[in-house]
Amino acid sequence: MTILGLSHRRAIIVGAGQAGLAVASALRTAGLAPQRDFAIIDANPRGERSWASRADSMQLLTDAQHSAIGGVPLPSDPARRPYPPEMERYLTAVETSIGVATMWGIRATGVEHRGTGSTLLLRTAEGAVQTRNVVCATGFASRPSLPAWASELIVPGVILHSADYRLSRQIPQGDVLIIGGGDSGTQVAGELAHSHVVTLSTRSRHRHGGRTALPPRGTVRSSWFRRQSPTPASDERLDKLLRSGVTFAPGSIGVDGQDVLFADGTRVKPQSVIFATGYLPGDQWLPQSVRDGAHRRLRRGMTTMPGLFVAGHPRHGRHRSDTFIGAQRDASAIVRRIMNRP
Ligand SMILES: Cc1cc2nc3c(=O)[nH]c(=O)nc-3n(C[C@H](O)[C@H](O)[C@H](O)COP(=O)(O)OP(=O)(O)OC[C@H]3O[C@@H](n4cnc5c(N)ncnc54)[C@H](O)[C@@H]3O)c2cc1C
Repeated sequence: MTILGLSHRRAIIVGAGQAGLAVASALRTAGLAPQRDFAIIDANPRGERSWASRADSMQLLTDAQHSAIGGVPLPSDPARRPYPPEMERYLTAVETSIGVATMWGIRATGVEHRGTGSTLLLRTAEGAVQTRNVVCATGFASRPSLPAWASELIVPGVILHSADYRLSRQIPQGDVLIIGGGDSGTQVAGELAHSHVVTLSTRSRHRHGGRTALPPRGTVRSSWFRRQSPTPASDERLDKLLRSGVTFAPGSIGVDGQDVLFADGTRVKPQSVIFATGYLPGDQWLPQSVRDGAHRRLRRGMTTMPGLFVAGHPRHGRHRSDTFIGAQRDASAIVRRIMNRP
C-alpha cells in the first residue's frame, strides 16, 4: 500500500518505536482495527527500531518488568536488565501481537490543519495524506547532540558519538577520551576500561581538581538510571570505574588543534574521542508553533494543534515520557483524547 492508501484513517502514528507501539496497542484496546482505522509509518528503510542501532553490550538501565509495553511481558527474570538486541526483537513481537503492519521507509516531513474541520494533512517524503489525528512518536533521543566545537577537533585515532559506538574494536589501541559522564558515557567507559586507557570528562566539579578525583557524590546526571532502576546508585558505578582504572577529568569546553581543553584550564591530546554528549529530539518535522507551545504544559501528549499528539517526549508529556513506563502512560492519555475527538 502507498501512503495515499492511508487517507482518512482515524489516526496515523509516526514512529514505530516503543512510544508508537504503545499508542497502537492502546488504540486497539479501545476498539480500533490496525490498518483499517489506524496505521503506523516509520522512516527507517531497513525495518529496524532505535534499539537495533545501540551497542549490543549496553545493558538497559530499567529492568525487564519496567521495560515492557502493550501488556506483553518480557520473558524470564523480571529483575534482569535486558540488552538492546532483545528489545529490538521484543518490540517486533509486540507489533505482531497488536497486528499492526508498519509501513517502513516513509519519513514524515510536516503536518498542518486542512480547512476548517478537524482534518489534518500529514506530509511525508512519499506524498501527503489526510487523517483525523496524527501521533508524533519519533523519539526524544533521536539524533546525536554534539558541542559546537566538536567539528574542529582533529585526532590521530577516531572521533565518534556514543550513538555510533558498538564494540571496543572500533577504537584504536591506546588512550581514549570520553566526553560526558551520563548513562552512555559511563557505560562506554566501563567497557573500554578493559582494553584502553580511558579518561572520562564530566561537567561536575572535582573535589581535588586532580585527574583521579571522582565528582562529588550524587552530582553526575544519570536520568533513566536514577528514575527507574532498582539497582545501585550511579555513585557506585563511578567508584567501580575508578577501580577499573578510569581517570576522571573536568568538563570539556573546547579544542585547540589536537588538544581538548578542560574547564579547569588543563588540556589533553587524546588519541581518540567519544562524545557521549546526549541526543536531540526527533520532532523537527512538527510546526515551530507546536514545538514552541510545548512549554505551556498542556495535558499529557497534547499539542497546540488539535488532533496532533506527541508520545514519548518529556517536553510534550511528563518527565518520564521517554521511558517505557512513561510511553505507556502517554499512550493511554492520548488514546482517550483521540476516541473523544469528532
Ligand atoms: C542510549 C540510550 C539508552 C536508553 N536506555 C533506556 C532504558 O534503560 N530504559 C528506558 O525506559 N528508556 C531508555 N532509553 C530511553 C528510551 O526508552 C529510548 O530512547 C527509546 O528508544 C525511545 O522510544 P521511542 O519510541 O520514543 O523513540 P525511538 O525508539 O527513537 O523510535 C522513533 C522511531 O521514529 C522513527 N522516525 C524518526 N523520525 C521520523 C520521521 N520524521 N518520520 C517517520 N519516522 C521517523 C525512527 O526511525 C524510529 O524508529 C534509552 C535511550 C538511549 C538513547
